[in-house]
Amino acid sequence: MGQESPGDEVEAPVKETPSTPLLGGPDAPEGFDSQDVELEILQYPHPALRRENAAVEEFDGRLRKLADNLFRTLYTRGDGIGLAAPQVGVNLKVMVYNADPSSRDGETVFVNPRIVEISGETDVEKESCLSFPRMRGPVKRPVWVRVQAVDWDGCPFERRLSDFEARLFQHEYDHLYGVVYIDRLADSWRCAIQPDLNFLIEDYNRSGREDAAI
Ligand code: ZN
Repeated sequence: MGQESPGDEVEAPVKETPSTPLLGGPDAPEGFDSQDVELEILQYPHPALRRENAAVEEFDGRLRKLADNLFRTLYTRGDGIGLAAPQVGVNLKVMVYNADPSSRDGETVFVNPRIVEISGETDVEKESCLSFPRMRGPVKRPVWVRVQAVDWDGCPFERRLSDFEARLFQHEYDHLYGVVYIDRLADSWRCAIQPDLNFLIEDYNRSGREDAAI
């Protein structure tokens, strides 16, 4: 490339954020990938929790904004440590967590994650979920998992997660496949919380939203 002659304007390349929203499905809320917004966390039995989630194919400012908004929603509510995009009506394979919300150092974003190896050993701990208020139940999961994913720039990475982080990851990962933690409860626990689930179902049906997905 030749030298600039004096007086030439040099324009910096600007990566524009496209104005079309990411394809987040029929329940994707307005501005989820373009504005700073606290998103509504959808409760069971909203159908967005059971829908198929598409892999992210475009990596730009929209995806970063979605991840930011997922953290914003978690911190504003103050009662959760992880969130998956379908829980806010965005049916994309995006999930975030931060086990210590007092600091932003632990913010972790997984896009299009895949579990590629699991431990034979399992353990059982009680879990809760922002889409199932006031409920808890014991879930058996592998104690470690090896995961491949990409970050919000589309760069691939691999991590081996263990103990509490492995559980947190697997809980959010399930959401990306339409699975919620009550699906993994033993029958006795599932039956014990069924009255609470029935309340959620009645609430949902009264709201007049689209058909419930149990
Ligand atoms: Zn959850």
